[in-house]
Amino acid sequence: MRWKAVDMMIQIEAGRGLLYRAAVSGKQFPDPTLAAMAKIYCNEMSIRVTSEAVQVHGGYGFTDEFPVSRYFRGTRYGSLGGGTSETLRNLVSRKMVDQMDLASGVIGLRYFLNINKIK
Ligand SMILES: Cc1cc2nc3c(=O)[nH]c(=O)nc-3n(C[C@H](O)[C@H](O)[C@H](O)COP(=O)(O)OP(=O)(O)OC[C@H]3O[C@@H](n4cnc5c(N)ncnc54)[C@H](O)[C@@H]3O)c2cc1C
Repeated sequence: MRWKAVDMMIQIEAGRGLLYRAAVSGKQFPDPTLAAMAKIYCNEMSIRVTSEAVQVHGGYGFTDEFPVSRYFRGTRYGSLGGGTSETLRNLVSRKMVDQMDLASGVIGLRYFLNINKIK
């Protein structure tokens, strides 16, 4: 149980790091590509974490007697509302291909090198 909780915490903190990085990127608004990556990761992470939370509750996790089933259901909104995970991946991949380094063929490398200069 502790290992499961630790794995959940690692994923949550990783998501928090990406989210904060996106939040402070850009001049007036967050960098859209970083924001998209943060939304994709945090949403999919929350689905994994709440699904594991349902699992550790056993059968009770499936019932409405505990709020955990509602938390799990609630995470599904994030992959649909405000840009689906697929359309956000399209956005990120367009940026990566736009920045493709034709000489070396390394997709997205230049973008990620540039983005590291943000902060
Ligand atoms: C709880 C909730 C609240 C919402 N609130 C709002 C709101 O306040 N304002 C608002 O405007 N909308 C809102 N929406 C609508 C939401 O933005 C849409 O559900 C979402 O854009 C997906 O559109 P769709 O449901 O028509 O699915 P479709 O467009 O039919 O997509 C179905 C699936 O195909 C994928 N897909 C579609 N096009 C592509 C593509 N080009 N490449 C790859 N995959 C693709 C999608 O990612 C999805 O998985 C809300 C939705 C929910 C569930």
